[in-house]
Amino acid sequence: MDLFAVRAVDRERKITRLIASLYEYGDVVLAKKLQRCQRNRLEHRRAVQEGMVANWPARCRSPACASCRNSLETRWQEQARRRFKALDVVPSTSSMITILLSVNGSLDHVADEITRTRQRFANKRRHGVWSNWTLDAAVEVDGMHAHDWSSLLPGRKETLDTLPKVGRQSGWLWIGSIHGFLCHRGFSRYEVSAILSEMWPGVRRVNVDPVWSADLNAGSDDVWIDAASIVSYGLKHSETTQLSHQKVDWPVEMQAVWWSFLCAERRGVEPLRIRFKAKKQISSASK
Ligand SMILES: [Zn+2]
Repeated sequence: MDLFAVRAVDRERKITRLIASLYEYGDVVLAKKLQRCQRNRLEHRRAVQEGMVANWPARCRSPACASCRNSLETRWQEQARRRFKALDVVPSTSSMITILLSVNGSLDHVADEITRTRQRFANKRRHGVWSNWTLDAAVEVDGMHAHDWSSLLPGRKETLDTLPKVGRQSGWLWIGSIHGFLCHRGFSRYEVSAILSEMWPGVRRVNVDPVWSADLNAGSDDVWIDAASIVSYGLKHSETTQLSHQKVDWPVEMQAVWWSFLCAERRGVEPLRIRFKAKKQISSASK
């Protein structure tokens, strides 16, 4: 078997395990959806191997499906790229932002935190600040068991220790962090950093970094590519947690809890997105 085939078999095994875990967890709707998608896919593969003419299989398009996730991610990237391309962004007033939100005892707490964060951004904009800013961000959710807290790398642990703790800090913990691409016309990167750090005070909690293409002195085309990468980074679901010096896979029960939460009410990844755009384009406000 070639490497591609080995990966495909491995992926199907993981999906099968997730389906079983979803049934156990009680999310029959999502379990059946993934199961149907897998069955269609495998039947299609078998037909192709036997040299039969087969239509492209119907897919579930769920972010929980490791097979369908890639095409979803490509679409998110394309959206971000189009959005910032239309804005004519330049590296000097574009930044990648990372904000660590909180450590939560349940995913409902994470959802509340994201709602609160959207409100905080909206308030700022209502009061005339940031009206020229455009943000495309996703909240990345890291999961870990409370008893692994001591296994975090020292620097990471020190930072996470200073975050607000919401809910019971036993069992599984969920850490939300914003990864976004911000176009901040009218403000310098330093000013943006000061504003965000005041809103989310703490040790290394807020990072406002130049876009990668600015480092490389590349053309402005690449700024859109940065936008696409940062958004998909936030939305990526590798289902791993960095502990000590290695990445550890999420236990399958934890994956079931996570995907069930995210796919409820067919909302897909929308609950994780935080986006707003400049109210109007004033070229004189650029600097
Ligand atoms: Zn699927």
